[in-house]
Amino acid sequence: MSEQNQDKHQQRQQKVKQKVDERIAAAQKEQGIFQVITGNGKGKSTSGFGTVARAVGHGMKAAVCQFIKGTWECGERNLLEKAGVEFVIMNTGFTWETQNKESDTVAAQVTWQEAKRMLKDESINLVMLDEITYMITYGYIDLDDVLEAVSSRPAMQSVIITGRGAHRKLTDLADTVSEVRNVKHAFDAGIKAQKGFDY
Ligand code: ATP
Ligand code: MG
Repeated sequence: MSEQNQDKHQQRQQKVKQKVDERIAAAQKEQGIFQVITGNGKGKSTSGFGTVARAVGHGMKAAVCQFIKGTWECGERNLLEKAGVEFVIMNTGFTWETQNKESDTVAAQVTWQEAKRMLKDESINLVMLDEITYMITYGYIDLDDVLEAVSSRPAMQSVIITGRGAHRKLTDLADTVSEVRNVKHAFDAGIKAQKGFDY
């Protein structure tokens, strides 16, 4: 880079820095954050768990509700439960051999009651509702019920919702929305889901 270009570059960077500094100074609100992580790409749940780990690393209290069927072993659970993170998993106590809308709804509702309990608990700094978007899409959990519970949670509590096809009302309510785009996925090349990487 010539000296002149170097100067220009430095001036530009200085301006960028000034703008960023101004925005950092302006962001003074202290409150819990509601994040939605959606989209068809891989990385939604792992991102949510990353934030749970971050909170735990600061000595904060986090809780996770997983709205998943089946007995998918979850590496994060094995680790985070040991670190004091409460996990409620929808499949507990139910059999999933048959697709049955009634028992699916019951299971989703049982787990949702636990989630609601977490969303009222001031001592919990971060609540992760993993894969809850599907429960709303299938009509097992009422969207307005979720919006109400998230809206009326303790002011300093953060919430993460993950799952594909997040309803517009959820993303409208959220403070932070991340959409993970699928560029390519190993599964499409015939690679099986790998322990320690995919679950
Ligand atoms: P992860 O838990 O790895 O962050 P995710 O939460 O973004 O994934 P889910 O829709 O919950 O994605 O799916 C969970 C499982 O499906 C994971 O094993 C993941 O690797 C796999 N998966 C995610 N996206 C895709 C995709 N686009 N094609 C195929 N498999 C996928
Ligand atoms: Mg997921």
